[in-house]
Amino acid sequence: MAHAKAERTLVVIKPDGVQRTLVGEIIKRYERMGLKLVGMKMLVPSHDHVEVHYTLDPHWIKNVGEKSIESYKKKGLTPPTDDPIKLGKGVLENLRKYLTSGPVIAMVWQGAHAVQIVRKVTGGTEPLSSDVGTIRGDFVLDSYQMADSDTRAIRNLIHASGSVSEAEKEIPHWFKGEELMNYRLVQEQILYDVNLDGLLE
Ligand code: ADP
Ligand code: MG
Repeated sequence: MAHAKAERTLVVIKPDGVQRTLVGEIIKRYERMGLKLVGMKMLVPSHDHVEVHYTLDPHWIKNVGEKSIESYKKKGLTPPTDDPIKLGKGVLENLRKYLTSGPVIAMVWQGAHAVQIVRKVTGGTEPLSSDVGTIRGDFVLDSYQMADSDTRAIRNLIHASGSVSEAEKEIPHWFKGEELMNYRLVQEQILYDVNLDGLLE
């Protein structure tokens, strides 16, 4: 089994993140935890690239619909439809427009629990309810209701892989093998070594 420190996750700073000039702020949040940046590029993704990205997991359309409906119900509101697949398909269409509207920054971050740690710091999907202290909680004010009433995607600055298996499918969709760097960061000794040998002179 690969060491936990080899776990990798995909992060995409969406067009609103680039436009809000939050690229540096977002990178800082991941970097300061000890994660290692192993790949990065700026691009304007195509409609097809976005569609394939979100349908790498065949259950995503239904899941995203269910998650939205649940959020409406939790707030005592009526969802726009009770059919999660219909809702999910609408979200995908809106995401195609959103993510192709301007340049994005795609990155791969590596480190122990990279997927979960990045999700924790990124915050929940809906900025209205994502925790204070997370990137989405601190820098945006969007909600399911606002996005749905304007027939657009929630603007939440970032895409981050939701699970290790999602990351394993998403990374090769965005990066060729040679675009990812295998290298050692000196600080990894402090993060991962069993004994902190060699610190004292
Ligand atoms: P996450 O990005 O947190 O993994 P999902 O995978 O569930 O969230 O959804 C992907 C993206 O689709 C979200 O980040 C958000 O931009 C958008 N989105 C999700 N649900 C809705 C919705 N009901 N209305 C508008 N946009 C949505
Ligand atoms: Mg997701």
